[in-house]
Amino acid sequence: MHGTATTEHATAYPANLVTDGPAPTAHQIAIEHTFETAHRLPHLGGKCTSLHGHSWRVAVSVIAPTLSDDVTVVEFGALKAGVRQWMDTHLDHGTMLGVHDPLAAHLLAAKCKVFRFGANGNETVKDPELLATDLAWPTVEAVAVLLRRVSQAVLAALPCAPDARIGQVFVRETHLNTATYGPVDAP
Ligand SMILES: [Zn+2]
Repeated sequence: MHGTATTEHATAYPANLVTDGPAPTAHQIAIEHTFETAHRLPHLGGKCTSLHGHSWRVAVSVIAPTLSDDVTVVEFGALKAGVRQWMDTHLDHGTMLGVHDPLAAHLLAAKCKVFRFGANGNETVKDPELLATDLAWPTVEAVAVLLRRVSQAVLAALPCAPDARIGQVFVRETHLNTATYGPVDAP
């Protein structure tokens, strides 16, 4: 009886469905996080010159052509812990500024958390700020680039599926403004 059932299954589900057919496929997972952080963009003028805060929302995707032996792309908990800890430590309840913004010195002197972008000269900055030396100002686009780099570093230290990589990183700055950064061929 079991043999008959197997034969019927094989007939009901053609091989091209079972194997996904010839089109390239990939697995994608995503994690999300939020942080409450101020910034200002005086180089743009207008209202962004004023120091103001956002509830930033981030989604980080990881893509892999095949799964690991434990049938995952990467373990969600470990990836979330690494990415969230970085954001909580370096950005949450802090202020993102250009490195030459005069507000930076004042806020640091007042023992406020500050993350400085664009320190590409002889400035003395913290190690995490070295991830943003080529990003002059903390625009939503720059934040997406920064957080993709952070996510790449976190993923590199974790066991994961073969050839797993960070895909798109999505950042929501306001209800109306978002930015996405990642490889153009990634979902
Ligand atoms: Zn803003």
